[in-house]
Amino acid sequence: MNSKIKLAFEKIVGTSNIITNDLNPFNTDWMNKYVGSSQIVLTPQTTVQVSQILKFCNENLLKVVPQSGNTGLVGGSVPINDEIIISLKKMNKIQEFDLNSAILTSESGVILDNLNNYLLQYKYQMPWDLGARGSCLLGGNISTNAGGLNVVKHGLLRNYILGLEVVLPNGKILNLLNKNRKDNTGTDLKQLFIGSEGTLGIITKANVLCIPIPNEKKVFFLELKSFQDVIKVLQKVKRNEQLLAFEFMEGRILYKNMHRHNGNQLPFQFQEDRYYVLIEISGQSINVDSFSMDMMEFTQEIIMNQSEKEAQFLWKLREEIAESMGKMGYVLKYDVSIPPDKFEWLVNQIYPKREGPFHVYYGHVGDGNVHINIVFEQLEDLHKEEDKIEQKLFGLVKSEGGSISAEHGIGQHKRKYMELQKGKDVLECMNEIKRLFDPNGIMNPNKLL
Ligand SMILES: Cc1cc2nc3c(=O)[nH]c(=O)nc-3n(C[C@H](O)[C@H](O)[C@H](O)COP(=O)(O)OP(=O)(O)OC[C@H]3O[C@@H](n4cnc5c(N)ncnc54)[C@H](O)[C@@H]3O)c2cc1C
Repeated sequence: MNSKIKLAFEKIVGTSNIITNDLNPFNTDWMNKYVGSSQIVLTPQTTVQVSQILKFCNENLLKVVPQSGNTGLVGGSVPINDEIIISLKKMNKIQEFDLNSAILTSESGVILDNLNNYLLQYKYQMPWDLGARGSCLLGGNISTNAGGLNVVKHGLLRNYILGLEVVLPNGKILNLLNKNRKDNTGTDLKQLFIGSEGTLGIITKANVLCIPIPNEKKVFFLELKSFQDVIKVLQKVKRNEQLLAFEFMEGRILYKNMHRHNGNQLPFQFQEDRYYVLIEISGQSINVDSFSMDMMEFTQEIIMNQSEKEAQFLWKLREEIAESMGKMGYVLKYDVSIPPDKFEWLVNQIYPKREGPFHVYYGHVGDGNVHINIVFEQLEDLHKEEDKIEQKLFGLVKSEGGSISAEHGIGQHKRKYMELQKGKDVLECMNEIKRLFDPNGIMNPNKLL
């Protein structure tokens, strides 16, 4: 790193907000799949500092990567080369929660779990939830338009963001903050930044509409004989407005993970050829009997939690899948949207008779989002297979009217398939917007677009 540049950053953020040693955790993504070679991480503490950093970088054509919790799964949050990393984790002040409007105002660097802990005193919670809740930050969630476990009931994050403060690549601070539920004053600019993966600007603050914590909830774990039965149960319970989550898991991965729970009471002796579903219902008062009746018709067995601890354990069985796959080797991860009844068909098209490297499908069946994970022992093998699998998988997804990214985003992973997904005209329009905000191309280069 050029010493003049370093000195300029020291003037803006001070030496205590510059990291130049042990940058591995910032340069490497959560899956150890993407590794950059940045030599400097800046940790600004105010919006003005973010603005000054970007202005300087823009004037000197220095490329930057915004980083929050670095839990992203598409290589968006790590540099490709030696870009400057701007970590938002010190912008972690929660400003207020307004009980009358249920609107939270916060800096973007707060951990999702911490936002929920803060909201507890008001009996409110964040409208989205995901397995990375202990590490991901508000700004990272917004920049990826994160999906997660409750979309089936609450819909997407995008609907709950009422306002944003964003710093543009030229250093201009765009005040799009808004504490009104209703604001109908022309083009909704903040939407451009939600899900744009740090390619247009840096989100520094947000207004979020929060939701009440329900009085009651129940978690069910079901064992089923076929994937068709999973879909039949889904059809039955989907009409019920108390349905909060409908998560599907293949027996082959639960069976493999059984050894992790020696001594813990498992809901079933998992079998490789069975299908499992976790359902959570919630509300101010819930009707467990009517739900159980709906599920019974197609289910071999149902377990229902008797305590909060049991509920947490049942969720753990679902949430540990991503991590356990990572421990088996290098993982190719896909999160595609496709009609739920096509999940099994899709996987069979990729691996007929389910042969090939160890792979599983699981995920948010309730909102048509399947995760396909394929494990390779060597990174080189993964890279050898990647293109072949993706051309087939994404081609099939497109032909079924689906999306190559349901929730993780595009990052560096799926960038070359954007034209397949969007078509030439739409992609060109996205590129024009990028050029308008970032004519020098300094923001998160070679990601998404
Ligand atoms: C165990 C596990 C479970 C997960 N489950 C889900 C899930 O259910 N649903 C889901 O959608 N995702 C899931 N993810 C993926 C990931 O957690 C989400 O994408 C999350 O929203 C990323 O947040 P982050 O704070 O880690 O952001 P990062 O990974 O740091 O960044 C993500 C992207 O946003 C950009 N960015 C970050 N902060 C800002 C900012 N302030 N301004 C502008 N751009 C910014 C980055 O440049 C990058 O492109 C999971 C990940 C893990 C590890």
